[in-house]
Amino acid sequence: MHWPGTQVEYLSRFQPSFCPRRGCPEHVRKGPGFRFERHGFYGTRRRWRIPRFRCRACRGTFSRQSFAVSYYSKRPELLVPIAAGLVGGSAHRQIARTFGCAPSTVTRNAAKLGRHAILLLAAVRTELEGQVDERFVLDHFETFEFTQDYPFGVATVVGSRSWYVYDLDPAPHSRTGHMSEPQRRRLGARPRRPSRGGYVGSTRRVFDRLLSLVPPASQAIIHGDGHPAYDRAQRTHPSGRRLRLERYPNPPRGPKGSPRSEAARLRDQRLFPVDLLHKILRHSLAHHRRETIAFGRRLNALLERLFLTAVWRNFVKKRSERVARSGTPAMRLGLARDRWNWPRVFSRRLFPARIPTPPTWAQIYQRLWTTPLYPVNSRHALKRAF
Ligand SMILES: [Zn+2]
Repeated sequence: MHWPGTQVEYLSRFQPSFCPRRGCPEHVRKGPGFRFERHGFYGTRRRWRIPRFRCRACRGTFSRQSFAVSYYSKRPELLVPIAAGLVGGSAHRQIARTFGCAPSTVTRNAAKLGRHAILLLAAVRTELEGQVDERFVLDHFETFEFTQDYPFGVATVVGSRSWYVYDLDPAPHSRTGHMSEPQRRRLGARPRRPSRGGYVGSTRRVFDRLLSLVPPASQAIIHGDGHPAYDRAQRTHPSGRRLRLERYPNPPRGPKGSPRSEAARLRDQRLFPVDLLHKILRHSLAHHRRETIAFGRRLNALLERLFLTAVWRNFVKKRSERVARSGTPAMRLGLARDRWNWPRVFSRRLFPARIPTPPTWAQIYQRLWTTPLYPVNSRHALKRAF
């Protein structure tokens, strides 16, 4: 995949190859030939001589900054440390204290970085379409938004050989397990939340997207833990015959320390890539620690952070920490030649209108999966910085 190594902010001879304004016919240009004029420079206290341009099609002006992830940022130097802090087990306030900014700055930037991550993974998807020849490992990662009364799973799909994170999809479901009488009353008084199909719906959406990744005539082979929702999603899927589910349910295990049965060993081996991802998520994200006060408040924000973590897992973090030259999952897939660092991840701004984005991902981008408990759910609907 072609992805520049140098951040656009550092290119002194930058030339735009499309118009950054949504709605301009030149915005979606793919090939060369974009016609623009130079339109002077501007400077700020932080940056000097930022070139400006004028689009010949819509006559709108813009600058080199319109193509940077730090577009409209007042503290552009915080993007990288915030990203590193978010996947380094820190909560928003801790990051804010470390880098001397307001907690709301971290929250806003976390959302922005999450949106960038959604588009980056969507761009990679278009490259992978019809190309993937490995098996997938699927499992739902369990978490909750705001209160344990609002649990949801997140379908996570990992490549069985590459360990690349292909997909994330939320599955809100109702609270299960034992509840005391006061807990039951409290739950009854809470506003209802749309489940959007729950586990089955989320699995079906994942299947749709996986089918477009494998070559047209072949099957998508998926290892799962035998969740009944996976079977139902496959049975009712219009292309169900192109989906092959292999079930590895968790067998009963003896007391701690007792040897694993053959079935348990096989299950652990086949589901290892997704089990490992879930361990990394619990270890690296403050949201998902047990007994934390940093738990996620909103599903949208939780997903933004998970997408950022998926980009980190795929392109930045080594596949295995113990093996010195293990490379990244993206390198295994041939998407990258070397390990990326955070500045490289943020080297270019991505534009939603230019990248085909799966519907659920686009809804998360716009923050449409709201948490009904809150009187205010901020959508993402900025005009210029969309
Ligand atoms: Zn234009």
